[in-house]
Amino acid sequence: MLSNSERDVLATPVLVLNKSYQAVRVTTARQAFSLLYGARARALDASYEPHDFAAWSAIEPTEEELAVRTPRGRLCVPRILWLCDYNRVPRTPLRLSRRNVFLRDGHACMYCGATGELTIDHVVPRSRGGGGSWENLVACCRACNLAKGHRTPEEAGMTLRCAPVRPTWTVVVQLANVDEHLPIWEPFLGPARSLRRKAS
Ligand SMILES: [Zn+2]
Repeated sequence: MLSNSERDVLATPVLVLNKSYQAVRVTTARQAFSLLYGARARALDASYEPHDFAAWSAIEPTEEELAVRTPRGRLCVPRILWLCDYNRVPRTPLRLSRRNVFLRDGHACMYCGATGELTIDHVVPRSRGGGGSWENLVACCRACNLAKGHRTPEEAGMTLRCAPVRPTWTVVVQLANVDEHLPIWEPFLGPARSLRRKAS
């Protein structure tokens, strides 16, 4: 029988990454253990080292770490799961629109991080063949837009805070519902990390 606290532990949110380390969904520790045990995923530790089930169960959880009791001892709850054979991005793509680009980019300029009045920048300018795609459109403040002009970021000496990618409702919506984003998730969340703050 599981105690209530063990039930809570099994409901702990776990970030799931595809083979390319893109966040694809948030799942529960219960489901994460099942994927790990079934060899369909590896658990990433705090140094992002992947472990299969055998290696993971050999790790001794510290006092502070979330763990579940098993007949063979305490088992750490993974916080990041890596689907080493899965490279799709989930279906139900987010519609490409000005509003959704702002949402993806956390309502902040993708160059300087400024909030406030934002426009849409074509990373590769339209005049240079840059299209209207998730990978080429970013939120941009007026100052950065003016400074960049009809140039690429490299030509203008500007750097994108992260590579613009096609987001999915799955991750965006799920992340908005997770109370606490773990610091070790940060490298995989991109601008989505600020969504919860914006949404509340
Ligand atoms: Zn800016």
